[in-house]
Order: sequence, then C-alpha cells, then structure tokens
Amino acid sequence: MTGTVYKSTGSWYVVKTEEGETYNCRIKGKFRIKGIKSTNPIAVGDRVDFDADTSADEVFGVIHHIHDRKNYIIRKSVNLSKQTHIIASNIDIAFLLVTINNPVTTTSFIDRFLVAAEAYGIETVLVFNKIDTLDETALEEQLYLQAVYSDIGYQCLRVSAREGKGITELKELMKGRVSMFSGHSGVGKSTLVNAIEPELNLKTAEISEQHQQGQHTTTFAEMYDLSFGAKIIDTPGIRGFGMVDMEPEEIGDYFPEFFALKEHCKFNNCLHKEEPKCAVKEALEKDEIAWSRYQSYLQILEGDDETYRNDIYGM
Ligand code: GDP
Ligand code: ZN
Repeated sequence: MTGTVYKSTGSWYVVKTEEGETYNCRIKGKFRIKGIKSTNPIAVGDRVDFDADTSADEVFGVIHHIHDRKNYIIRKSVNLSKQTHIIASNIDIAFLLVTINNPVTTTSFIDRFLVAAEAYGIETVLVFNKIDTLDETALEEQLYLQAVYSDIGYQCLRVSAREGKGITELKELMKGRVSMFSGHSGVGKSTLVNAIEPELNLKTAEISEQHQQGQHTTTFAEMYDLSFGAKIIDTPGIRGFGMVDMEPEEIGDYFPEFFALKEHCKFNNCLHKEEPKCAVKEALEKDEIAWSRYQSYLQILEGDDETYRNDIYGM
C-alpha cells in the first residue's frame, strides 16, 4: 500500500492512503536514506510504501520503502554538528507572510527566505498581511516592495487576516497542493490559517527560545487536510529552517534577476562584486535591480550560516 506521512513522532508515523484510511506505521528494521545524514529517516510529507500487519489486535503498518522526495526542508541540529533533521518534505508552495510594521519584516529576511526556498526548489508566494493597518507611508512602502518582488517573478498577495480580505485568492492558490506558512512571529500566521479554515485548531504555541536552544525539542510537524481540497503542513515550535550549504558562486543563481543576467557577465563564475564587465552591477547602476536585493546578496555571500540559522521562521 502507498500513503503519505501526516505525522511523525520519531518512532511512529501516521500514514494516510489516497482512500483516506489512516494507519499507524513503524519502520521495518533500520533503514537509512541515501545521501542525507539525518536524525530522522522519514518526515511529514513523505510518500511511503507499507504493508498492513493484521496479525496483532490492532492493525498497523510497516513502512518498507520511501519514494524520492521532490524537496525537503531541514534544520541543523544545534548540539550535534552535521546532524540534520528533516522537518517536512514534498512541499508544493510556501506562503511567506510579510508585514510592514508590527513586526517589521526586513528585505534581508525576505531575501534569505527566498534564496533558501529557491535552493530547496519550493515555490514561494509573498503574502502582505495586515493591509488594514497601513497608513500612507506604510502603504507606499508595501506597494514598493510588492513591485520589487512581482517584477522578478514572485507572486504577491495583499491580505488582511483580521478583516478576511484576500482570503479567496489565497485559498485558490492552496487548492490541490501542500502548503506551508512562514514568517516572523506576530505576522499573523495563526490568524490567517484561522481565517482560511476556522475549524482547524493548530498547535502553534511557541516554545521558548531557551528551551529550543538547550535541548531536543519534542514537537513535530503535522499535515492537515483542509475542507476545500488543500493540505497544510504545520511545524509547531520549529523556528528556523537552515540554509542549504552552497558555494559562493551558486548564491547568485538563487536570485532570479541575477541569474537571468549571468550569461552576460564577462566571467562565467562572476560573483557580481568587483569583476569587470559584470552585467548584474551594470543593471544595478541603471536601477534595474533593487539595491535592497543586492545588499541581501552581499550579506549572504559574506555572512556565515551561524548568524542567520534561526532567521527563518515557520509556523
Ligand atoms: P503568528 O505569530 O504569526 O501566528 O501571529 P498571530 O496570528 O498570533 O497574530 C499576531 C497579532 O497580529 C495578533 O494580535 C493578531 O490579531 C494580529 N493580526 C493578525 N493578522 C492581522 C491583520 O490582518 N490585521 C491586523 N490589524 N492585525 C492582525
Ligand atoms: Zn556578474
């Protein structure tokens, strides 16, 4: 039988078949996934093959095969260096919530998220929330940001989770897909999910930073079916997903507007910094590339992973 992992406790997995039947599964013996050194072999979102075991009083399943993942997001373990934890897999679309004020979402934060999502191969939509609160200055800023990101190919939505504005369009994008909602704490993720599906009561309670740093967390991601044919992955207490390891000359490839110009740079390994005849720098000087994007690029290029490991917040 084949199904999707909806929940993982580390030793048990809740697997749902296409017919909607759920099985509590365990893993057959020990098996590792090639190429990833992770603390968990199976994650929420994984497609797995399993056998139903009817010999016991309670029917359960034994997972014996995992299908190739389309993508996955990881978190690096704080304590055990080099160990990674797969948070979730097979995500179709990420919604990054952005607010102009309360809290401020910086372009640096947005760009880091987008670079990680590009590297992971996850389509991202920017959701500008709390549009009901914007005064003239904030509105101008919001529209400017929206222009920057839609110009380079990211779909943008304007919503008010509180007033229920823009929810229909959002639901339309979620239909038939597995969604994930991200953004700083306080941007309105819970309020928005509540506006989308009032029946759903997500366990979004945040665990303290102290606790998270100090010990192994016991919260796990979980997938939910929504009433209108959408799926959502909730990652309670998981406050960051790590940047994938990338080479310096790879970073520019995850800035779509840089990538499009790359072939016109004189050097094919151009870092778009000091090199002569750099098409990215030329575009920047002509204001065809946003300065904030270039600043973010330099930050990622120069920064080390440690400083922004916990920058990206999921819900
Ligand atoms: P989360 O931490 O991302 O889950 O954020 P919450 O959903 O808890 O929202 C944080 C605060 O922002 C709450 O006080 C919400 O009522 C408020 N909030 C969320 N969405 C909106 C919105 O669209 N407009 C306004 N004015 N407030 C909002
Ligand atoms: Zn260049």
